[in-house]
Amino acid sequence: MGVGQVVFSKLLIANRGEIAVRIIRACRELNIRTVAVYSEADANAMHVRLADEAVLIGPPPPKESYLRGDKIIQAAKTSGAQAIHPGYGFLAENADFAEAVRAASLIFVGPPTEAIRAMGSKTGARALMQAAGVPVVPGYAPDLTGLGDLSGLEQAAQHIGYPVLVKAAGGGGGRGMRIVRDEAELAEALASARREAASAFGDDTVFLEKYLDRAKHIEFQVFGDAQGNIVHLFERECSLQRRHQKVIEESPAPLLNRHPDLRAKMAQAAVAAARAVKYQNAGTVEFIVNPDSLAFYFLEMNTRLQVEHPVTEAITGLDLAHLQLRVAAGEPLPFAQADVTARGHAIECRVCAEDPANNFYPSVGPILKAAEPHGPGLRVDSGFATGDAVSEHYDSLIAKVIAHAPTRAEAIARMDAALARYSLLGLTTNIAFLRDLLAQTEFQAGTVTTQFIGQHFANWRADELAPEIIIAAALAEALSANASPARAATVVGDHNPWSRADGFRIGRA
Ligand code: ADP
Ligand code: ADP
Ligand code: MG
Repeated sequence: MGVGQVVFSKLLIANRGEIAVRIIRACRELNIRTVAVYSEADANAMHVRLADEAVLIGPPPPKESYLRGDKIIQAAKTSGAQAIHPGYGFLAENADFAEAVRAASLIFVGPPTEAIRAMGSKTGARALMQAAGVPVVPGYAPDLTGLGDLSGLEQAAQHIGYPVLVKAAGGGGGRGMRIVRDEAELAEALASARREAASAFGDDTVFLEKYLDRAKHIEFQVFGDAQGNIVHLFERECSLQRRHQKVIEESPAPLLNRHPDLRAKMAQAAVAAARAVKYQNAGTVEFIVNPDSLAFYFLEMNTRLQVEHPVTEAITGLDLAHLQLRVAAGEPLPFAQADVTARGHAIECRVCAEDPANNFYPSVGPILKAAEPHGPGLRVDSGFATGDAVSEHYDSLIAKVIAHAPTRAEAIARMDAALARYSLLGLTTNIAFLRDLLAQTEFQAGTVTTQFIGQHFANWRADELAPEIIIAAALAEALSANASPARAATVVGDHNPWSRADGFRIGRA
């Protein structure tokens, strides 16, 4: 047994992409063998290559593979895994899956089933938090299935005061939300939110919240163990969002550096929220904050490891995936609240295969070349290497770049320099968009709100390719092996018009 051995020796990872890779690496450090699961689209994916074993679970659509809890549990049983880590997304917050895993005598690396269930409904969670004395966004949260009583909703919206936000009770990933600025838009917004919620979450229950026009998203990482200890690991600010989805995250939050008393109050509320559901393992309590009044409100609790967990790891020096595995195996947290300290500033950028100039439309296909930046204070969590393909079936996250430095300004500079030397060829990515965001005065001042991208970057366009780049590319091609007159006649390739046998003529399309 290695020094780091925990009580189970083989773990199945019910996920793909960068998070599966990240968990496989944590397991290797703890001498835990890993089993990957994969769909037909992922037969040669990085997580499959890195795991000790891999099991095919079905065709590419998630409903037929990564969401097939039965097949995943079967794969754990046949491969002899004793535990399942769900990652994030897919089945990570599915209480029925956690219950089925446990019913099969396997360890679920996550919170108790009841805690997942209690926090799974945003309306249920709101009620629980109110009872626990945690402030929630002013709103009206009845069961609105049926939608018979529009006048009641109109009254509720009036009572809350426009603008209001229609939200899906089962929501996640920013879906099923509609901002309503006046009464005339309410009926249509309710109907379309319900349609989206029904197709995305299989539940069309929606509710109303007061929409905060100026809000910061600040969340707290919490951790609990089976012995009843619950700690927080400070906050993350995730205000830069597109369509209610995070783009850049950081820790600590600039606003809370200016108001340490507010940090203490929010941390206390986060721990109270976790305690109210007897929380165990890693979780995140999300709040929105009015930066003017400093009022803060509970949004939801994510009962899993979060995409942006590396910024917390950077400033605390803790490995959250290791902690998850140890706590799941029944070990107590190896530290108390007073032992947790933060050092420096960390920022994460989500590098996605998408076109920020075209409504963040996903870009799919093979990555012709992936060359990640390296250097002191840099971490890249990636799920793809040169030659791997980004599939239309899954989300567009390719990698996360995390920069850590003594100060926020240095972390921003380090991030920008890292993105500048990150080559990802063959796909459209958001790298130039991320760099433009980092350069904004408001971002550098730490004052952006969740509305920032919508207000200032709605018509964002990438800079035109500099003529020097086009000339350099043409020169490189001309000077390449293909260019000798002797070879030109024999080389077959799209780049050489003289070798094409398709009737090519100069001057035609
Ligand atoms: P985080 O909350 O961890 O910062 P996101 O909210 O962007 O990150 O969600 C993480 C991933 O999980 C994304 O890929 C998102 O699309 C997916 N996701 C989140 N919630 C749900 C859900 N309820 N149903 C399906 N996918 C979800
Ligand atoms: P999801 O489950 O999709 O992550 P959240 O409730 O966490 O849904 O909200 C996602 C984002 O939407 C928040 O980070 C915030 O930017 C925005 N948002 C949610 N509720 C409100 C609100 N009442 N007022 C303003 N913005 C909100
Ligand atoms: Mg959220």
